Amino acid sequence: MRGIVFFTDSRAKNDVTVFDTTLRDGEQTPGIAFTFEQKIEIARQLSDIGVHTIEAGFPASSAAEKETVAAIKKLGLTANVCGLARSVKADVDACIDCDVDMIHVFIPTSDIQRENTINKTREAGAFDHRRYRPLRPRPRGHVHVLADGLLPGQDEDYLVKVCQTAAEAGATIINIPDTVGVISPSGMKRLMGRLAREVNCPLDVHCHNDFGLAVANTIAAVEAGASQVQVTVNGLGERAGNADLAQTVMIMESIYGIHTGIKKERLVETSRLVSRFSGLAIPPIQPVVGENVFSHESGIHTQGVLKCSDTFEPGIMTPEMVGHRRRLTLGKHVGRHAVRQMLVDAHIDPDDTQLDIIVEKVKAIASKGKRVTEADLYEIR
Ligand code: MN
Repeated sequence: MRGIVFFTDSRAKNDVTVFDTTLRDGEQTPGIAFTFEQKIEIARQLSDIGVHTIEAGFPASSAAEKETVAAIKKLGLTANVCGLARSVKADVDACIDCDVDMIHVFIPTSDIQRENTINKTREAGAFDHRRYRPLRPRPRGHVHVLADGLLPGQDEDYLVKVCQTAAEAGATIINIPDTVGVISPSGMKRLMGRLAREVNCPLDVHCHNDFGLAVANTIAAVEAGASQVQVTVNGLGERAGNADLAQTVMIMESIYGIHTGIKKERLVETSRLVSRFSGLAIPPIQPVVGENVFSHESGIHTQGVLKCSDTFEPGIMTPEMVGHRRRLTLGKHVGRHAVRQMLVDAHIDPDDTQLDIIVEKVKAIASKGKRVTEADLYEIR
């Protein structure tokens, strides 16, 4: 059996659920607006690949948004459909009108966000959580509380108190977002560890990528015992985006051996669908889904991978696992093995003399700084 155990200091759960916010936070990516039809297709795809909860939008924000959330709920997906709400009755009512399975109520806990966005005192902010109580008896109804804002100046004791109050008031899961992406992995692990000890409620995490730490911080929270992760396809989201779905899932599954319920072999397909709809190209070196992730160019690497793919690929993540394909490209360091393999893959079986001639021609093209693709190879006469 394959598997790598690098970690001994982990309190990670065996199962972690995936909450996708591509349709809410992801759509807040500057310059991105999905059409109604695209949102429906993304929601179907997310549910089909095993996402546990889809945050479909913020119903109180506009009539169109409310209609979309209601329409996504009406699809009858396997995934739970969630709506976002401020901790005010009108917002919660808008979610209830959409018949969502889960309401994600957010309350800023950092002084800077609370005073500048909802203009409330700490006591008023905390007290608002009691409003969630009437939602509890609803079938499949979950209340998800987002204690917003790991911002500089966050009073941690107050954050813990808000979470405890929410848990007592019936929250089914509590989300801790690093809204501006400033926490470190060790800081996240320590904070989540404290919340796991002091708050009697499953925990969820939502990380932003301002310093490129979104995935690392998400994993740190999982190590401390978080039950759920919030992600977006291709890491879309405000500013530098959120934790990426494919990366977060593959790290949990392949490195930690955590079960997420995600159909991993559909990760590349999902990434491409959202890339097409968002108009945001996937960088070739994007982990897991990028075009270069399983491509090999130099002679030694190519030869090694053809003999045993574990040589220069992480054996715990193969192209087959994520729905990708292995690609050999021919550069100036090309070897006979790679050229022969590419030809054999195309059902061409050259003898040694022919192969020598073809390899020389490939090297000649590549030495001019060009990358020789499979199509170029078949053109060589
Ligand atoms: Mn966010």
